[in-house]
Amino acid sequence: MPGQCAAQAGGEELKPTSDLRPSPVSPSVDFDRDGAQHGFLRLPYSRDDSAWGSVMIPICVLRNGKGPTALLTGGNHGDEYEGPLALYDLARTLDPAQVSGTVIIVPAMNYPAFRAGTRTSPIDKGNMNRSFPGRPDGTVTEKIADYFQRELLPRADIVFDFHSGGKTLDFVPFCAAHTLPNKALEQRAFAAVEAFAAPFSMRMIEIDAVGMYDTAAEDMGKVFVTTELGGGGTSRAETVRIARRGMLNVLRHAGIVAGAVEKTPTQWLDMPSGDCFAFAEEDGMVETMVDLGEPVDKGAVLARIHSTGRTGIAPQEIRAKMSGMLAARHFPGLVKAGDCVSVVAALVD
Ligand SMILES: [Zn+2]
Repeated sequence: MPGQCAAQAGGEELKPTSDLRPSPVSPSVDFDRDGAQHGFLRLPYSRDDSAWGSVMIPICVLRNGKGPTALLTGGNHGDEYEGPLALYDLARTLDPAQVSGTVIIVPAMNYPAFRAGTRTSPIDKGNMNRSFPGRPDGTVTEKIADYFQRELLPRADIVFDFHSGGKTLDFVPFCAAHTLPNKALEQRAFAAVEAFAAPFSMRMIEIDAVGMYDTAAEDMGKVFVTTELGGGGTSRAETVRIARRGMLNVLRHAGIVAGAVEKTPTQWLDMPSGDCFAFAEEDGMVETMVDLGEPVDKGAVLARIHSTGRTGIAPQEIRAKMSGMLAARHFPGLVKAGDCVSVVAALVD
């Protein structure tokens, strides 16, 4: 989930990007060449088992002449699978002859985390979506973020970043964009969300937007669209179908792939304030009292957290601070104090 668990390294002031050294990442693809290219972003990473080794991040460029550029990413968090499943597939099956412009696909953005099946990188514990704008002289995760910040994002007209709940959250399937101060940009992003045509479409807010890829793209004035398509550290047939169909729909909507958007009804949801989030205040075993997609009244018990250390203790009740629908919940059976237990979203008529 984009809006979780911000952890910022440092305290050092960020330099203006013009003062930074060049990125150590070498792409094996030419972004200005027509046709299909399947290559790597090669990032030097010297370590015990490979003195002059590199991290090889798969990248695909599909280009056909002039036109808009879409930058498509999955695996920003390494334990979310709908995006990688849709994007490795798209890279293999989309014929550049069908493209007007350029499609850049990085199906596993935080590739070390993706290979480990973990949210953050096993190399440096870097959470890609809290590492922007990154640093060319930083950790592996910061170097990848820096490459996106300075080399890939500036090329894009539309940026699409797939997420799901990962191992610790589960969501109703939705496509989302943020409410933004720039209303013209917000409108373009919501139009792309509508084109994706997931069962749900979300006007999204974040718990803490600092360091997010989303924020980096939006600050550059890019149309930024994301998803939360399920979770639990796996994928489902339905959520992968939604991802594949929605991605093609957005490329059609952007005029990059020919053909009409396959429209299906979508229910718009809103996260009007921080009241949508509920957090555990104690460790324990969580009992979901409402399932995903079910209606919720303000004050209703969403979940109970049972103390496990001894018997005879009443469970802590997690109550809804607003009415709406349960849009997300904690996935594992045990929770820790501070964990996000549930997210309620308001239904928009
Ligand atoms: Zn995520």
